[in-house]
Amino acid sequence: MSTLRFRVVEKAFQAKPQEVRVPAERPSEYFGKYVFNREKMFKYLPSSVYAKLVDAMDNGAALDRDVADAVAEGMKRWAMELGVTHYTHWFQPLTEGTAEKHDAFVEHDGKGGMMEEFSGKLLVQQEPDASSFPNGGIRNTFEARGYSAWDPSSPVFVVDDTLCIPTVFIAYTGESLDYKAPLLKALRAVNKAAVDVCHYFDPNVKKVMAYLGWEQEYFLVDEGLYAARPDLLLTGRTLMGHEASKNQQLEDHYFGAIPSRVAAFMKDLEIQALELGIPVKTRHNEVAPNQFELAPIFEECNLAVDHNMLIMSLMRKVARNHGFRVLLHEKPFKGVNGSGKHNNWSLGTDTGVLLMAPGKTSEENLRFITFIVNTLMAVYRHNGLLKASIMSATNAHRLGANEAPPAIISSFLGSQLSRVLDHMEESEADELITLGGKHGMKLDIPQIPELLIDNTDRNRTSPFAFTGNRFEFRAVGSEANCASAMIALNTAVAEQLIEFKAAVEALIEKGEPKISAIIQVIRDYIKICKPIRFDGNGYSDEWKEEAARRGLDCETSCPLIFDRYLAPESIAMFEAAGVMTQKELEARNEVKWETYTKKIQIEARVLGDLVMNHIVPTAIEYQSKLIDNVYKVKGLFPAEEVEKLSGENLALIRKISEHTTYIKEHVDAMVNARKVANKIVDEREKAIAYHDTIAPMLEEIRYHIDKLELIVDDQMWTLPKYRELLFIR
Ligand code: ADP
Ligand code: MG
Repeated sequence: MSTLRFRVVEKAFQAKPQEVRVPAERPSEYFGKYVFNREKMFKYLPSSVYAKLVDAMDNGAALDRDVADAVAEGMKRWAMELGVTHYTHWFQPLTEGTAEKHDAFVEHDGKGGMMEEFSGKLLVQQEPDASSFPNGGIRNTFEARGYSAWDPSSPVFVVDDTLCIPTVFIAYTGESLDYKAPLLKALRAVNKAAVDVCHYFDPNVKKVMAYLGWEQEYFLVDEGLYAARPDLLLTGRTLMGHEASKNQQLEDHYFGAIPSRVAAFMKDLEIQALELGIPVKTRHNEVAPNQFELAPIFEECNLAVDHNMLIMSLMRKVARNHGFRVLLHEKPFKGVNGSGKHNNWSLGTDTGVLLMAPGKTSEENLRFITFIVNTLMAVYRHNGLLKASIMSATNAHRLGANEAPPAIISSFLGSQLSRVLDHMEESEADELITLGGKHGMKLDIPQIPELLIDNTDRNRTSPFAFTGNRFEFRAVGSEANCASAMIALNTAVAEQLIEFKAAVEALIEKGEPKISAIIQVIRDYIKICKPIRFDGNGYSDEWKEEAARRGLDCETSCPLIFDRYLAPESIAMFEAAGVMTQKELEARNEVKWETYTKKIQIEARVLGDLVMNHIVPTAIEYQSKLIDNVYKVKGLFPAEEVEKLSGENLALIRKISEHTTYIKEHVDAMVNARKVANKIVDEREKAIAYHDTIAPMLEEIRYHIDKLELIVDDQMWTLPKYRELLFIR
């Protein structure tokens, strides 16, 4: 009798919503309570120091040591008022999480006692002994030093008793070992390139920001049930489990009423997120049972990435206080939807203009079209790389399955915007423009009418969809660091805008008026990037064929998709933009391949253990019961009746033997395949071996386990089933 399973199921059924500590103030009042934001900087810093820090934050100006000391002093004073005793550099190594090492403020005071101390030196730079972070061979153990360096553009915050300082993490030799350093470089590149293009329309633009609004999907599972599933615990997903008779087919979960235990979790999470300055706004049930979504208001990209990393760790913590575990894996359950993290991306100027939004005048609309078409060009030229930027062992389960964007990057524009681009493409150069003269005058460009882009024109199957004033990159995985996708996208757009400007300048030099030069280049681009535009059903097989015909990247093997980072055009792009060198790209790919291998390796081990410790023993126990029954029937009934009475059981006995034999043989074969793959030295080759031989075995073995789950007596089955994991709140 499977007592543990029934005990945890019963407990999960009876669990009540937790009490939530609701602050007395309104959200607008406690927002950013634990963030050293401008308001607090102003309060805790001398005015000259404040001005210099703001300059560093807004314009990347360097901070000298005196200023850093003064900033550190102010931060310490603020933090100590909140009861803070420690500080940490908070960084984003090439794992899925964040890293921190806490140090206390205390120092000897020279008189035999202690004092609280926090200097500019400690704020600005640290040397974490970080030789065991993934680095792809950039640091061998002899040169294990890495530096973390303060990123003043993302504010310092307090978690529990610790002051957290967002930092980049780089090798002694200067290479990035994290996500933040290349992201900041990509954002700098797109800022510069976009400002230059903006000057065609408005000379006053000084800065262009990339914006990011992420939508985080996740599952919640009762903590007790989670603990009884070693696969969830160790791999983040279920490696076995037959579908429940009911899952999402009634579509009754999406936007449904939020269960009270979950609502308490969300409320608690949101309060704590707001206190940390994360502008959370939206919450709802998602498509699959026990699946939910959380989205903030969009922010500047670097800050938004930090906030997403922070909220993922906050979710894990708060979930535990509510007796849940949060599953951020892209595909925790087979047969129901997986989780993504839509990255809503756009560019905007310091003059308050959203560059992906249509305007009122024809000049504003030409600017709009310019940025849309250049983005499409960037996505077209680097569609393979963008796919690589979101690919991982875990996200591979979601992409290409019939619920998420396919493993082909294309862009949905909607009928209105498509019509505008088609029209521009078809019209003749001469009839295009009646130039209005000097810059700043209203230009009469009949082909670009007043645009009102309809927000409701949606396509859920598109991986890169235009949604009114932004693009929504939907292929990003729920567990991923958004920075990966944002580094690739912003760098590609930067490269493209630079080329656009060069093409326009070349025409202007030949005597072409500016506006006409812009329109000519855009018209060429519309023709070139046409293959990336696709408004149809991305799930269909016809699209796969069509995409291949169009020359889009259709590779589906995760380790091979990573190759796109090392394609000559990718290396050239990253190097020219000053975002990453070839050496860094190679090292990061080593990390990607290694991580891929390790994930599959762990899954294979866990499945092997489950089989030997749970599945096969349980199946055999049940089979013995059946055999016992057959013998007893034989003893009781005349021979001619035995066949009739035991036929069913004999068939079951045979079936159980078939499944368990298959499972045992294939687990052995999987162990042997792993031994072969583990001997491969080259990380890429090893990952390919794991992808091609071991990953499919996991699925094959699972098929037979799931069949056994249907056959074996429910009372004996030790592991919580899908209907329990997914339907208990
Ligand atoms: P959806 O209809 O796609 O679910 P939501 O409103 O739930 O939309 O979330 C969309 C996300 O996109 C939010 O984070 C929102 O702030 C963000 N967003 C809106 N406009 C922009 C923009 N111009 N640039 C970047 N993100 C944006
Ligand atoms: Mg969305």
